[in-house]
Amino acid sequence: MKKFSCFTTAILLTAHLANAQGGNPKDTEVWTPVPKIIAAPVNTQVAPHDAIILFNGKNLNDWVTVKDKSAAKWTVIDNMFTVKKGTGNIQTKRSFTNYQLHIEWKIPVNITGDGQARGNSGLFLASTGTGDGGYELQVLDSYNNVTYSNGQAGSIYKQFIPLVNASRKPGEWQTYDVVWTAPVFNDDGSVKSPARVTVLHNGVLIQNNIELKGETAYIGAPVYKKHGPTPIKLQDHGDPSLAISFRNIWVREL
Ligand code: MG
Repeated sequence: MKKFSCFTTAILLTAHLANAQGGNPKDTEVWTPVPKIIAAPVNTQVAPHDAIILFNGKNLNDWVTVKDKSAAKWTVIDNMFTVKKGTGNIQTKRSFTNYQLHIEWKIPVNITGDGQARGNSGLFLASTGTGDGGYELQVLDSYNNVTYSNGQAGSIYKQFIPLVNASRKPGEWQTYDVVWTAPVFNDDGSVKSPARVTVLHNGVLIQNNIELKGETAYIGAPVYKKHGPTPIKLQDHGDPSLAISFRNIWVREL
């Protein structure tokens, strides 16, 4: 009986609101599509059930060497992999457009060097060309290491300084969670809509839906060059400091 009376009250309230605003609230309810139900992970580091696993902890079968597309040669051990200096950048076999990505990385506890030569790698959110082409989210030891702000960990290299420095000590695992919106190009190669990115570093927002100026460049101004779906790339930087490691990489296409 009580239930019925609540229901009646709701109907009357709805009718009252509809009259007061000169419309029906049901006119603005959207019921389809119904978002797909996925099992929520136990924590934000666990891949949701609809994610593509890019590293299974055992091998680099989903990755290739960028320069010649041969098998990725970085070292896999203990559920992680480590840059094998001198073997070059690696990238995913698959190509992506818009996505959510999770990756974990670790600076060696006994890292040496300074500035850009201290645990330098990079996550290229879209890989173009055969070298460092694309859009680099910097990976670096920025725990206690001064360098130019737009080149420290969490920067979109030489374009956007991270909002804060959320770096953990060398030896501790760190996370990047990224939402990437790829640029869209017109037929003539001009930019229809630029790339956008949101980044959380160790769970802290450091890049808030920023609009990229083009591909990240070591020298000179950023420029866009038309591309379609692209692999995701990791950098073998070549600085003399100890190599950094990665684990638990997954992506959800959007
Ligand atoms: Mg780098």
